[in-house]
Amino acid sequence: MAIKIEKISKTKEKISFLVKGINNSIANSIRRNVLEIPILAIDTVEFSKNDSALYDEMLAHRIGLIPLKSTKTFTPRKKCTCKGKGCLKCTAALKLKAKGPAMVNAKDLKTKGMEIVYPEMPIVLLAKDQELQLTAQATLGTGREHAKFTPGLVWFNSFPIIDIKGCSECTECIDICPRKAISFKDKKLIIDPLKCDICEACVEFLKNKEKCSISIKPSEEDFIFYIESFGQLKSEEIFVDAINSLDNNLKEFEKQIKKFKTTK
Ligand SMILES: [Zn+2]
Repeated sequence: MAIKIEKISKTKEKISFLVKGINNSIANSIRRNVLEIPILAIDTVEFSKNDSALYDEMLAHRIGLIPLKSTKTFTPRKKCTCKGKGCLKCTAALKLKAKGPAMVNAKDLKTKGMEIVYPEMPIVLLAKDQELQLTAQATLGTGREHAKFTPGLVWFNSFPIIDIKGCSECTECIDICPRKAISFKDKKLIIDPLKCDICEACVEFLKNKEKCSISIKPSEEDFIFYIESFGQLKSEEIFVDAINSLDNNLKEFEKQIKKFKTTK
């Protein structure tokens, strides 16, 4: 069966689309492979001065979660020619120097070869004469190692297959839907499949009614995907990169299995 994709909505950070003609295993494999996309994040922080109210560990954790965009190509540290020691190809250096009274923001991190996605992201508030000085290193990692290397959130729902039978036009079921997916237009009951999350509240409500009934079943081949980017990649890039990661993993799998020699 041919695969078809239809756009539902798109904003700067979020995208949702309908994928037709796949199955649950493929949809879930794509979702899970988002954790395999290499993403840049701060991995080590060294403090030379920290008079702020927050502990070094807490600050380092906050700094690690700042989304970064690379303006040049980085190599994953484990695959780098420096063998994990850290060099210009696999590591980016950052510096921060601030004195209170001030709010220290993400843009106060000075760096080259990288862009801070949200410059106004607050790190810590410094009182009068309090100082903060640190150096940090950013490397590529994957969501499997730590959540800070995740490019965004990806989830999907089955497309609902809706069947309305013998509607008595009482419109009582409209208020039952918690997602406000049911409407009544031109003497016809309509359920918006993009709003419906198959909670079956309407199905349950109409169970004991004689005249009308609604049945909603999850499709086994059509899925609505939702992708919300944290800013390092465009939301549609996350989907494509996840497919590429899945592809690479399968190729690796194939390579390993080909090594098996037939034994008598
Ligand atoms: Zn290196």
